[in-house]
Amino acid sequence: MQPAQSIDWSYAPAPETFPVEIQQEHGLFIGGKFVDPRSRKHFDTIDPATEKKLSRVAEAGKADVEVAVKAAQKAFKGWSRMRPAERAGYLFRIARRIQERARELAVLESMDNGKPIKETRDVDVPLVAQHFFHHAGWCDKLAHAVPGVEPRPIGVCAQVIPWNFPLLMAAWKIAPALACGNTVVLKPAETTPLTALRLAEILQEVDLPPGVVNIVTGAGETGRMLVEHPNVQKVAFTGSTDVGKRIARACAGTDKRLTLELGGKSPNIIFADAPMDQAIEGIVNGIWFNQGQVCCAGSRLLVEESVVDEVIGRLTHRMRSLRVGNPLDKNTDVGAINSRQQLERVNSFIECGVQEGADRIVCFDGALPDTGYWVAPTLFRGVQPAHTIAREEIFGPVLTVLTFRTPDEAIARANDTNYGLSAGVWTSRASKAYEVAAGVKAGVVWLNTFNQFDATSPFGGFKESGFGREGGRAGLAAYLA
Ligand code: NAD
Ligand code: MN
Repeated sequence: MQPAQSIDWSYAPAPETFPVEIQQEHGLFIGGKFVDPRSRKHFDTIDPATEKKLSRVAEAGKADVEVAVKAAQKAFKGWSRMRPAERAGYLFRIARRIQERARELAVLESMDNGKPIKETRDVDVPLVAQHFFHHAGWCDKLAHAVPGVEPRPIGVCAQVIPWNFPLLMAAWKIAPALACGNTVVLKPAETTPLTALRLAEILQEVDLPPGVVNIVTGAGETGRMLVEHPNVQKVAFTGSTDVGKRIARACAGTDKRLTLELGGKSPNIIFADAPMDQAIEGIVNGIWFNQGQVCCAGSRLLVEESVVDEVIGRLTHRMRSLRVGNPLDKNTDVGAINSRQQLERVNSFIECGVQEGADRIVCFDGALPDTGYWVAPTLFRGVQPAHTIAREEIFGPVLTVLTFRTPDEAIARANDTNYGLSAGVWTSRASKAYEVAAGVKAGVVWLNTFNQFDATSPFGGFKESGFGREGGRAGLAAYLA
């Protein structure tokens, strides 16, 4: 008999080769044009997988925010009174151009954010196009969006977004605002401004009237000036709960409309009778999708006690086959952490979990790349509900595993959190699925699946995960007066 040969299962590199040109410097997009910032300030955005600078981006100051809001105010009259079908035409053309430039947008997103090309190509960018298509269809049907309400736009919308789904969050914000006849000033996150600026090029290509969408880049201070501007009528924010609370305080006592999409610590509940193969994939998808840098990540795994060893055994086995590395490689499953700051934050939570006495399992045998920001897929078992890592949002590829014995205990543990963004329930019994889903206080509950998004479906939180919905009719209501 031949001796067993060791087989090398590693994949040959399959780098995405689509060439994307990136200008050395980007201005602000105001009144339909790219303009130099009056602040005269710029900052760098880097590729977190290589730590190389990608471009210099304008940092909008007070005067810049002022002109951007003015441009949006000026554009409001024409845009809000435009025939709805004509408005729809612009949204359709934006969606078509996004599809035509999809590959470029996916590559650029992977470079600026660090997430794998598989995700940007197959999830982010298709959803971006879908959001514009979907909302194009609503423009002339708004009377049916919120029954009994005469659809009127609100005015100038200040929209501030995070770095984890840069272009998708821009689409979630811009598409419904425009469909309802509002105008926009958008502030992308400071580490991921490039795809929003590429979207601005598309807005120019489709001849969107100047000022309908303005994009001001910068950090938290730019965002603060924007949301506090007196001529802004609506604020839509996605980001951390801390900043969300600050914005809520700033809007209190004004007549600004506000929606907040904040953090999460979402439970993924696995019953012993779950379809186990799918559940393992669902758990993996729930926490290692975008390196766990997902507001609705299934970061708290609740497993029925009788199957916890089986689940952890299968999960660690599956996790060891995840390929971590170059985001632009088509085989990569797990990309880079978005910034050094985020890397340090995730590592300090891992440290904290070890110190609190939970049992850390690092599910990765290979070497992490030498440059860039990486965290190996990690899970903690032996976690107590009071542990910091069971309570606070880590926003990284770190899964905490807790157990339960009965459906009631599963519901109680799932709700034992300040957050309420999403949840997963895995069981082959429909009655149990519906009972548990109804008991869990979360904006979205996925049954036998996880991390599914659709423009027709409202998304948003309870408790400290925020309020207001994005997507579907509920999402339109947030942009109608
Ligand atoms: P962050 O709150 O620090 O930043 C989000 C955005 O707000 C950025 O554009 C930032 O520049 C801006 N900002 C910061 N300070 C501001 C201020 N005082 N006023 C106005 N704008 C300000 O969050 P982050 O670290 O970039 O993102 C991670 C967090 O976002 C996580 O907690 C995550 O859960 C949350 N998030 C939530 C959702 C959701 O839909 N619920 C989606 C993505 C991310
Ligand atoms: Mn970047």
